[in-house]
Amino acid sequence: MSFWEFTVDASYFIAAVLFIIGLKRMGSPKTAKSGIKWAGIGMALATVVTLWHPAMEAGFFRYVLMILAIVIGGAGAWYTGKKVEMTAMPQMVALYNGMGGGAAAAIALVEMYSGSAFDHGTTVLTLAVIGALIGGVSFSGSLIAWAKLEGKMKKTIRLPGQQLINGSVAAITVILGIAIIASDGSAPVLVTLFFLLSLAFGVLLTNPIGGADMPVVISMYNAFTGLAVAFEGFVLGNAAMIIAGTVVGAAGTLLTLLMANGMNRSISNVLFAGFGVDDGAEADGPEGEMKSVEAFDAAASFAYSDSLIIVPGYGLAVAQAQHKLWEFVQMLEKEHDVDVKFAIHPVAGRMPGHMNVLLAEAGVPYDKIFDLEEINAEFPNADAALVIGANDVVNPAARTDESSPIYGMPILDVDKAREVYVVKRGKGTGFSGVQNALFFGDNTRMVFGDAKQVCTDLANGLKQL
Ligand code: NDP
Repeated sequence: MSFWEFTVDASYFIAAVLFIIGLKRMGSPKTAKSGIKWAGIGMALATVVTLWHPAMEAGFFRYVLMILAIVIGGAGAWYTGKKVEMTAMPQMVALYNGMGGGAAAAIALVEMYSGSAFDHGTTVLTLAVIGALIGGVSFSGSLIAWAKLEGKMKKTIRLPGQQLINGSVAAITVILGIAIIASDGSAPVLVTLFFLLSLAFGVLLTNPIGGADMPVVISMYNAFTGLAVAFEGFVLGNAAMIIAGTVVGAAGTLLTLLMANGMNRSISNVLFAGFGVDDGAEADGPEGEMKSVEAFDAAASFAYSDSLIIVPGYGLAVAQAQHKLWEFVQMLEKEHDVDVKFAIHPVAGRMPGHMNVLLAEAGVPYDKIFDLEEINAEFPNADAALVIGANDVVNPAARTDESSPIYGMPILDVDKAREVYVVKRGKGTGFSGVQNALFFGDNTRMVFGDAKQVCTDLANGLKQL
């Protein structure tokens, strides 16, 4: 082994260790920021040493192209990363994810067109073909997911016989893949057709899925991209790609399962049930009168309570109300001696951890933040519950109404608190499009308004007491 080979392999090993340390640290909001940095250092190391990889045999012009790509990609990612709103994070993940899948598929294509994928034997060629398929599906599927979440694609089109069409396209793509593996290495037409059909399959698979399930789909494509990168790592003989791809594949799979469990749904239900498709129909569910109160009255009620549980949701994130909310909570604790806790549903917001990150950003201590399993038993003893911009995650129909599309989803038992206050702008439904029985409950009062404004009004209300 030459000095350079040793240096590159040793650096890949260090990068892999850094990825794993980074991922471990991302498991808790306390250490997540440093986790991102550790993983980032690992990725920078792996990228830089690859330029010295002995297998590259790259001429000067290729180095210029590579460095140009790194500079343009790095600058674009830096700028968009700085600019992105917390609420737009899922679509940004979708976009970056798609790029990863596309890159893996592009590697496979280059290796197949040039013939070198055929030089390494059937096993490596098979991995190249599978990687190209998964990468292509992940690329086009992620772009559709991005367009849906970004509001660029408003209509969800479900074709008649959709599953049959999808199944046929998938089957033809697989047959083409097998034909490529069985060919003698000069099959550019087959390769092109195979790649185009992979892209088409990604579009066909993602298009009928409703916006409400898009974050789960994005996470699934994340796992796909990891796998595709790992497979192409075998083709290029690149250990860093194999390790990073496997880690991403495993993490993406676990996250997908966690999100599906949080909604009590199977992955096949997410992919094929067409849940959350906006068909323009009126929202189903209970009807009745919502009793509304002013923020001042709610503030007074909280001030005279002993215990309050706050449930933040997507609306809090949109309004960026976390800082104002925390100001209000500190006043309640210090001046009125109220015991305040925050309850976080695993899928509150638009991705796991969304609410934890927002509250941590505002300075809420971690020992005040509780998961669903930890806090649900406390609602019946709480004097009051305050729901801010959350809807589906507190819908009691998930517990009681078998006909509800969200039946079976674990929810926070807010309705069991003595008094419930709900902050939202109007009578709109949540992400799933289902109306919420909680809002019509006898013990529920609605405080209509933008979450940030209402939190400001709640704090002002306390000052007037
Ligand atoms: P929801 O989307 O169900 O409800 C949010 C509510 O916030 C809406 O009813 C809306 O009502 C209100 N709102 C919006 N903007 C504002 C604002 N500026 N001020 C005050 N209120 C506002 O959010 P939840 O957090 O309860 O539920 C998350 C949903 O996302 C679930 O359906 C979950 O399954 C889904 N999901 C989550 C994933 C995750 O991993 N976190 C993954 C996939 C799906 P109004 O318009 O009247 O103001």
